[in-house]
Amino acid sequence: METKSSNLKKIRKAMEKSLDSKRFEHTLGVEYTAAALAMRYGGDIMKAQTAGLLHDCAKCMSNDKRLSICEKHHISVNKIERKNPFLLHAKVGSYIAMQKFQVHDSDTVNAILNHTTGRPDMSLLEKIVYVADYIEPGRKQAPNLMEIRKLSFLDLDEALFRILEDTLVYLRTVDGDVDPMTQKTYDFYKEYRENRQSEVRNLP
Ligand code: FE
Ligand code: FE
Repeated sequence: METKSSNLKKIRKAMEKSLDSKRFEHTLGVEYTAAALAMRYGGDIMKAQTAGLLHDCAKCMSNDKRLSICEKHHISVNKIERKNPFLLHAKVGSYIAMQKFQVHDSDTVNAILNHTTGRPDMSLLEKIVYVADYIEPGRKQAPNLMEIRKLSFLDLDEALFRILEDTLVYLRTVDGDVDPMTQKTYDFYKEYRENRQSEVRNLP
């Protein structure tokens, strides 16, 4: 499914129908930003586009609908997700990608599944979609966005770390619930970054 450009067209059309116009614009932004990052880092461009297009496919449905899809298809819902069912759009979205759009590539499905919280030790495609979601041209409100956009094309892991850090700071200032996975991902990449920096220091 995810290897033909005619399929991308079909998915794009379906997204235009099911998303509101603001979300659809964001979706297109994530699609081409993910493609550009895949070019930069030697990732699969078509997979980046597919995941970018589908990452928010469950964003414009009611919380009740998201919860009922989870219940019906035995998708687990944790306490934080039950309290904030919009968080479920990633899980439900990856399910829709598989069931409705026949996306069978596990890396693509995981990129959709993990696009809100990240996860420790992400694949290149997962990082690309996570970062593209944050930096796409339509995003305006994030702090340090100019710097992070530039950084994304210089050092993907550093950009990823900065996004995780700013996301946690933001969630704390608005008193939002932090999904434990966001914290876990941050901790992982904090340590990864420290190791990387000490490796550089220890170069002969
Ligand atoms: Fe999302
Ligand atoms: Fe998004």
